[in-house]
This record gives sequence, structure tokens and C-alpha cells, in this order.
Amino acid sequence: YSSLQSEGLEKESIFSDFEVLHAHTARLEGKVALITGAASGIGKATASKFISNGAKVVIADIQQQLGQVTAYELGPNATFIACDVSKESDISNAVDFTISKHSQLDIMYANAGVACNTPPSIVDLDLAVFDRVMNINVRGVIAGMKHASRVMIPRKTGSILCTASVTGLMGGLAQHTYSVSKFAVIGIVKSVAAELSKHGIRVNCISPFAIPTPFVLEEMSRIFPGVDIQRLIEITQNAGVLEGTNCEPNDIANAALYLASDDAKYVSGHNLVVDGGFTSFKTLEF
Ligand code: NAD
Repeated sequence: YSSLQSEGLEKESIFSDFEVLHAHTARLEGKVALITGAASGIGKATASKFISNGAKVVIADIQQQLGQVTAYELGPNATFIACDVSKESDISNAVDFTISKHSQLDIMYANAGVACNTPPSIVDLDLAVFDRVMNINVRGVIAGMKHASRVMIPRKTGSILCTASVTGLMGGLAQHTYSVSKFAVIGIVKSVAAELSKHGIRVNCISPFAIPTPFVLEEMSRIFPGVDIQRLIEITQNAGVLEGTNCEPNDIANAALYLASDDAKYVSGHNLVVDGGFTSFKTLEF
């Protein structure tokens, strides 16, 4: 401070600079978030990012042991609750738990989702698998929105996020069931955003491309049987088109931080594509 003063800087300008820096490192100070599917991958990276920005986070996941380990790793501002998003009662229980622990819910991130080992042809599609995936990826998201809105509407504020996918924009070979579920998520986001805007609640989603999380690596190991895990990670990370950088869960966490924070206070009904240019590139490829 004194060295800055000797350089002729006024006290006021020094402190206002400090405040700007502080605001950037704690963009979710005082906020409470509930994140589904946060025991691993994108949800875990986002929980960590939110906590380092001042939030308290409830991690809701079907994997109890892993969820508890994750909450322990993330420290005292993380709590775990067991939750199967395909069961509405589990979601309402997770919201109630969040309110009883923290008295508020500012950010609901309906992130949990599953891939499906679908057959290459629609001809062989097992509709029981279709129902299972839709129950988690679509019904689980809309139930999350329903129960979060119930507590956000009276407070006239809140941010709801979901994880869609680039397959919700463009489909993909043998991705029929998963693709349907993610098109649905983008549709739900736009519809619910329109409805909740009059209550001051923003609703957005993020569409990643290929991030090396357990979810994708399991799929990759089916596509490339016998290939070792490190190579599968490399193949996944090189699937994008942006040179000189590799995608990682933190890239999605950064997008979620933006959408959850007041930096995005005028953004609603939006699908933020984080794909290293993949979808743009594909539309230009003849
Ligand atoms: P991940 O496997 O690391 O994490 C998914 C988490 O969801 C796991 O912790 C899992 O236990 C949990 N989960 C699964 N079923 C659940 C249920 N019924 N109830 C509660 N929790 C459940 O995978 P990820 O890549 O972090 O996936 C997160 C989201 O991102 C998913 O919605 C997925 O569709 C989406 N996504 C991922 C990618 C990618 O490349 N990784 C790309 C596009 C979209």
C-alpha cells in the first residue's frame, strides 16, 4: 500500500481496484448451490469451482460412497446427499435438505446424466433402455427444475442450469436415445426460461462436446476395446478442432460459473456450447 502511495496512487483508487479483484475471485459469495451428478466429472469440477468462488454446495449423486469422498475432498463447504434423479421424491428431498441446511437455494445445476450403450441401429433399439435414459436425463432434469423453482419463485431470484450436449444440437451416429434426451433438455430450458423470467429466475444450459470423464471413457472403451485408458483420454481430448488446448471438466465448470453468477444476469434461455469449435466446424465441412 505504501509503495503504491509513493507511486502517487490515491487510497480510493487502490481500494476500488482491490474490490474489483475480490469480486472476481468470489463471484458466488453467499450463494448456495445444489448440483446433481456432482460425485464425479463435470459436476465435481463445478462444485469445486463454485466453492472456490465463495458458494456452499450440496452434492447430490446416486453413488453414495464416491459422493461422500468427493464432499470430504472439497472441504467444509461441500455436503453430500444421496439422490437418484429418476425418483422425484429424491429430488424434492435434496432440495429440502439444502434449505434445511443453508436456508436458501440460489443455484440448481441439474447435471446428472447417463450415456447409453445403444446398438448401432434403430432397428435393434431396446425401448426399456430408452425409458431408463429418458428417466434420468430428461425426467430428472425437469423434476430438478420443478422443485428448485418452488423455493426460488417466492424469493424472486435464482439460476437454474443443466448439462445438455452437442448431440442435442446435431445428433450423432448410434446416439439416438442420448441425442433425444439432450434435444429435450435444450427444449425444456428454453420453455422453462420463458415461464420463470417473470419471477427473476434465469434458466440456461451448457452443451459440452467430449470431455474425458468416466461417463465418456466408458463409452470410448466400448468403441475401442482393449485400448488403454491413457490412450482413450488422448483420443477424447483430440476429438475437438481447437489446436493447442485440451478440453477438461474445468472448461465446463468455468461456463457454469459464468451462467450461475451475476455476470450472466441478463442471460436466460441460452444454450452455451463449449466444444472447441466442433459444431461450427462440422457445419462447414462439405
Ligand atoms: P460422470 O460419469 O463423470 O458424472 C456423472 C455423474 O452423474 C456420476 O457421478 C453419476 O454417479 C451421476 N449419476 C448418474 N445417474 C444418476 C442418477 N440417476 N441420479 C443421480 N446421479 C446420477 O460424467 P460427466 O461427463 O461429468 O457427465 C455429467 C453430464 O454431462 C451428463 O449429463 C452428461 O450427459 C453431460 N455431458 C458430458 C459430456 C462429456 O463429454 N463428458 C459431453 C456432453 C454432455
